[in-house]
Amino acid sequence: MSFTLYNSASRKKEAFKPIKNGEIGIYVCGVTVYDLCHIGHARSAIVFDVLVRYLRARGFKVTYVRNFTDVDDKIIERAKKTGEDTATLAKRYIDTFYEDMLSLGVLDADVEPKATEHVDDIIDMVRSLIEKGFAYVVDGTVYFSVEKFDSYGQLSGRQLEEMVAGARIAVDEKKKYPMDFVLWKGAKPGEPKWKSPWGDGRPGWHIECSAMSCKYLGANFDIHGGGRDLIFPHHENERAQAMAANGVDFANYWVHNGFLTVEAEKMSKSLGNFITIQDALTLYHPQELRLFLLSKHYRSPLDFSRSAMLETRSGLIRIYRTLQRAEEIIGPNKHDTNTAFLSDVGDNDFKNHFIHVMDDDLNTAAGLGLLFDKIRNINKLLDSPAQKTDITSQLAKERKALLECSRALGLLECEPSYFFHNIIKAFPEVATEEIKKMIKERQEARKTKDWARADSIREELFGKGIILEDGPQGTSWRLRIEE
Ligand SMILES: [Zn+2]
Repeated sequence: MSFTLYNSASRKKEAFKPIKNGEIGIYVCGVTVYDLCHIGHARSAIVFDVLVRYLRARGFKVTYVRNFTDVDDKIIERAKKTGEDTATLAKRYIDTFYEDMLSLGVLDADVEPKATEHVDDIIDMVRSLIEKGFAYVVDGTVYFSVEKFDSYGQLSGRQLEEMVAGARIAVDEKKKYPMDFVLWKGAKPGEPKWKSPWGDGRPGWHIECSAMSCKYLGANFDIHGGGRDLIFPHHENERAQAMAANGVDFANYWVHNGFLTVEAEKMSKSLGNFITIQDALTLYHPQELRLFLLSKHYRSPLDFSRSAMLETRSGLIRIYRTLQRAEEIIGPNKHDTNTAFLSDVGDNDFKNHFIHVMDDDLNTAAGLGLLFDKIRNINKLLDSPAQKTDITSQLAKERKALLECSRALGLLECEPSYFFHNIIKAFPEVATEEIKKMIKERQEARKTKDWARADSIREELFGKGIILEDGPQGTSWRLRIEE
């Protein structure tokens, strides 16, 4: 089977064919740098990080472009509040973005263009859209005329008439048609501005991605990605601008990751349930976040909850415990430097199976399932009675296969001892509340002599890597890895 991807444009899975044999160009919409990144951003960053890692591991030469939107209404608004100029504010949040990504093990993109550094490219594209009759100027502001572009709405599956009927757009007298959108904004006093043929102003939001993706990947390139919320209007507009300006297809595959909720609620400032990456990293190990964020298929909704994180932690501890036991017998793993480590796997059943599920629209959930199966197999090997036969070569082979597949997911890259050192440090905050609750429940059960219930709570916690100890002071708990 070859690599397949769900294409949001066709609304089905398609066999992936790169434009240039063996090479892939990927553009992903990055962040608007006006605030700290939250765990929803982490999901998107990790999903596309894994897409790039996996395709490279399979032997493709990938060019990955991820932009920064560093001029925009939100940035201007925030800078007014903080009293900074927009460039200083943007720079500050670009720096924290890099810190977050480094902590999460997200690789840098090959090109990380900023809108403010591509104003000339943007102006060129806007000029070409005006010349071709797709855009018009009113009082120093340039609009894209959606009625002129035949397939407007095709990516998001919307009809123009429905959009107009359903839209709650502020009436803009200058627009010829309600769905027309801004390519170039005439300058307002006090806002950042650049010179243009239409007067001083700044780019509209959508145009930067059309201009920068085509500049670095060519007018027609392979994959365009981003969060689902970007399909409309951002990606619809990007597509319209680029295709109208260049007269060729834009991205061949549109890939969108699903939403992330927190304790079954949409993340929002008003609900106060915004979890920044920085906050999350004070509670969880970066590998736990990555394992959790890959635990569901990238298109599925995913719910971030304490209990899910606790489960993730116990799974990861189980894996690292096995790796630690293996290390005691065969020594530390040596990472090889081959980047295309999944391109030719011969008849290795495990790796072939892993590739089979990952080739199916990057099914990381199934891939992780295989990693856990492998851990069980390695544990059996480690537990084999008296180790009658020499298990070292078998163990080394199994561990190598496991670590190569997990490397494609950006997982299990730390030494077991290092992982345990960090996770113990990170542990207390997170699960304490949950564990206390269960201990209390167990005490209640014991009071009413419901021994079965009390035992099952103890076992459940044990399964999560937690050991209960009853003493004169009451019940305390410790991590199983401290044994
Ligand atoms: Zn974009």
